[in-house]
Amino acid sequence: MENTQVVKEDVNTELQGTLIDKYEDDYHKALKSIETDVKDLIVNGSEMKGLMAFNDNILKIVEVHDALMNFYNIIFNNQEVLKKFNSQRLRQLGYEPFALYKQLKEMHISGASDDILERMTMTNLKKAGFDKSHWYIKARILSEIEYLIETLRILIEPEFIPLVESVTNSEEQNASDRYVPSNVKIAVWRRDNGKCVGCGSQEKLEYDHIIPVSKGGSNTERNIQLLCEKCNRQKSARIE
Ligand SMILES: [Zn+2]
Repeated sequence: MENTQVVKEDVNTELQGTLIDKYEDDYHKALKSIETDVKDLIVNGSEMKGLMAFNDNILKIVEVHDALMNFYNIIFNNQEVLKKFNSQRLRQLGYEPFALYKQLKEMHISGASDDILERMTMTNLKKAGFDKSHWYIKARILSEIEYLIETLRILIEPEFIPLVESVTNSEEQNASDRYVPSNVKIAVWRRDNGKCVGCGSQEKLEYDHIIPVSKGGSNTERNIQLLCEKCNRQKSARIE
């Protein structure tokens, strides 16, 4: 039982709480902070502190936008590959990834000024139901972020962990005996073909220590396998 819980924790912190969740969380926190922290500071006479907090939040929003856009650009420019290989995730999306401001700009649409590109982007976003406005930040930036979060949440597989930040986290957590490093998880995922080695299920997968850590098992690829929640529970019950 102890084993199951620990493995689950690993899955939760890195696989279920996805990269996109993290960006979405940062984005909403920054927006909220403008309406609360910044406002409170200014209302209470701390103008400079308020404006500095405001700046930090705007930077955070731009940072989230840039990060999401980097992923989207790869997907947008190569969506033919996903179509060619009949990507399940692309079908799940239900619409074709369309050109946002950055992509339109890269397409060098002849004679189009930034203003026109901005308007073209907003027209596309509105058609798809993304029309977010704010008293300070460009509607285009906010609408793009919301479109990107929704689109990337489907198109980026949850186990995709390219963040430098995750690596830093994993170093901190190395102190914990049962922590499975990201590179090991990726190797195990590939080796086991993203399926439970017990029953072949692709649902609710967990990283299981073949020999439990409490019995001397290590966090290496050889000692870790993919098991679905059900098979993992059965295994834990046997070990207990
Ligand atoms: Zn299974």
